[in-house]
Amino acid sequence: MKAVSFSAPRKTEIIDTPEPQLGSEDVLVDVHYIGLCGTDLNTYRGLMPLVTYPRIPGHEVSGVIVAKGKNVPASINKGDRVMLSPYAHCGICPACRVGRSNCCQFNQTLGYNSQFTII
Ligand SMILES: [Zn+2]
Ligand SMILES: [Zn+2]
Repeated sequence: MKAVSFSAPRKTEIIDTPEPQLGSEDVLVDVHYIGLCGTDLNTYRGLMPLVTYPRIPGHEVSGVIVAKGKNVPASINKGDRVMLSPYAHCGICPACRVGRSNCCQFNQTLGYNSQFTII
C-alpha cells in the first residue's frame, strides 16, 4: 500500500506501508476524502515541536467502512459513511474527568503525534 510521508522537514516521498491489520475493536475505512490544513503545512515545514519524522500527514478524513472487528458495536456497520475524529484522549486525566477531553494531557492527534494506516 502506498502513502505520502514527510520523511524529514520539507522532504516528502511516496512510501510503501504494510496493509492494515484489523483488530477486534477496529474498523477499516476506505478513505474517500482528506483535508490538508495548516497543521499539515507546518508539519511539512518542520514547525511543529511535537512531531517526529517520518510522519504520514493527514487527520481530516472521511470514507466508508469496509470491514469491522468482532467487538465493534452492532450500530457500526460495513457501508457506513464516516468522518474520523483525529483526537484520542485517555478519559482518566484531570482534564478528561471534568469533560475537557480536548485538553487531555495524553492527547494524540492523527497525523501530528500519532498516525494510522489508511487504504
Ligand atoms: Zn487540521
Ligand atoms: Zn485525558
